[in-house]
Amino acid sequence: MNDEQTNLRHSAAHLLAAAVMQLWPKALRTIGPSIENGFYFDFDFGDTKITQNDLPRIEAEMTRILPAWKSFERYELDTDAAKKEYPGNAYKHELIDEFTNEGQKLTFYKSGQYWDLCRGGHVDHPDRQLKHFKLLSIAGAYWRGSEKNKMLTRIYGTVFSTQKELDDYLTILEEAKKRDHRKLGKDLEIFTFADEIGPGLPLWLPKGTIIKDELEKWGKQTEAKWGYQRVSTPFLTKRELFVTSGHVPYFEDEMYKVTVPGENKEETYFIKPMNCPFHHMIYKSKMRSYRDLPLKLAEYGTVARYEDSGSLNGILRPRLFCQNDAHVYCTEDQAVDVFVEIIRLHQYYYDALGLKDYYIVLCLRDPAKKDKYHGEEELWQKSESLSRAAMDKAGVKYVVEDEGAAHYGPKMDFKIKSAIGTEYGISTNQIDLFMPRRFDLKYTDRDGSQKYVIVQHRAPLGSSERFVGFLLEHFAGAFPVWLAPVQSAVLPITDKHLDYAQKVHQVLKDAGIRSELDARNEPLSARVRDWELQKVPYILAVGDREAQDNSVSVRKRGIAKTFSQSMPQFSASVIKEIATRSLA
Ligand SMILES: [Zn+2]
Ligand SMILES: [Zn+2]
Repeated sequence: MNDEQTNLRHSAAHLLAAAVMQLWPKALRTIGPSIENGFYFDFDFGDTKITQNDLPRIEAEMTRILPAWKSFERYELDTDAAKKEYPGNAYKHELIDEFTNEGQKLTFYKSGQYWDLCRGGHVDHPDRQLKHFKLLSIAGAYWRGSEKNKMLTRIYGTVFSTQKELDDYLTILEEAKKRDHRKLGKDLEIFTFADEIGPGLPLWLPKGTIIKDELEKWGKQTEAKWGYQRVSTPFLTKRELFVTSGHVPYFEDEMYKVTVPGENKEETYFIKPMNCPFHHMIYKSKMRSYRDLPLKLAEYGTVARYEDSGSLNGILRPRLFCQNDAHVYCTEDQAVDVFVEIIRLHQYYYDALGLKDYYIVLCLRDPAKKDKYHGEEELWQKSESLSRAAMDKAGVKYVVEDEGAAHYGPKMDFKIKSAIGTEYGISTNQIDLFMPRRFDLKYTDRDGSQKYVIVQHRAPLGSSERFVGFLLEHFAGAFPVWLAPVQSAVLPITDKHLDYAQKVHQVLKDAGIRSELDARNEPLSARVRDWELQKVPYILAVGDREAQDNSVSVRKRGIAKTFSQSMPQFSASVIKEIATRSLA
């Protein structure tokens, strides 16, 4: 976000608040910052309920008052005078007291008849520059983001310098809505949730399970080729394991607990929130030599994390998920090359899925909160320099952020953009020097000395849940043939052609193609339409001619023209597409 955009967005937030105060003079205003892609403003409307239906009215009011907004004029007030501007508004009073205590000046900015406490950062000519706005949605938001505070009403909007930019953005939003994985997940019968089971605990339906299984099969085959060994670990552990790892003080609230009677006294077990310490125990189960390294232990491990209910989002952010996890144990000399190989593995998957736009974010410690983190300074620095060296060597694009590190070391997030440019954080990687010390993970070096290993955490395909959610939105439900739950639908033109349709269906099934036979008593066009809505890659109609010359009439998804192919030809070409995981 550049300053110009920030100023434009924040200025539009003023305009929004001005319109709201005209329409609901009793509302209490709070804050209105610019955010990525737009702005919001939070209000306390008291007992009045504001809904999506009110947005057009507010927009009309914004447009009505805008011509009088020639500029933003700056004023300074003292504490008492500033408070008088907001009678009965405890939110503003709280801010005013805070700014006063910090020794900040209390500045107000006025445009048209409206003014508000504000640090500044506006456009010069609001009447001309703020024309192209749109209010988008309404949500609840706690004052200052804390659940202990009152829930306010947040109005979101966006603004652009030109109508064209605004229209383009709204088109993308519309497209994103159509691609919403929760909508597609329901329409295409991929997953569901049940109140009786609980929020964030997804149920994979038969079609979704096919996609999930195909991805996991691909992950396992690929890892076997790349030298990984598979392990399998329990989904329960004694609390001690996470005391050793140092997670308990930070993450205990996010872990599901199970209590059992025990031999003498009650014992508490955790449902595993991550696979790492389990793999560390496998590493430790025997003496390791430098000759054994790098050692790559992989597991599709299901983990449970009690995510805050507000952050749950279908299968993109559930509370139970299965990770494409592995830990690579290596020496310090190997660390850079091991990480370069991990980056190559990501690139292999991304290339195969046609994902071109990705980069890595290297997340470091927030300098203001260094007490939040474990470990020695030296380990932090070494991990950071190894990570940078590997990313430089791999020639991959990356940015650095002063936040988001794990509590024991810097981490790297892979970000990918979907077909419509939406960004997803899919996998997290880490060069970890800390856990080997907590768990005493060593190897015997050439000279017989005992040294700590380095462990690299990686999960290129993320969790199956998140990855399928991402792919649903990326492909808009039109999965490539190898992932499509139904690969071909066979439709007899009339009852008369049922025998031949059955034969075709059976041949395809025998060839390992996921085929469905649709002999419903409905017109052909209606049946074709249903399968198109299901985004099936191949719809095959069969009638007299096809039965006669052992062929099929093929409707390929995305191609308007129907074409005819002999059965052996069709089946061979689909088998090839599946085997090569083709995107065509
Ligand atoms: Zn302002
Ligand atoms: Zn790990």
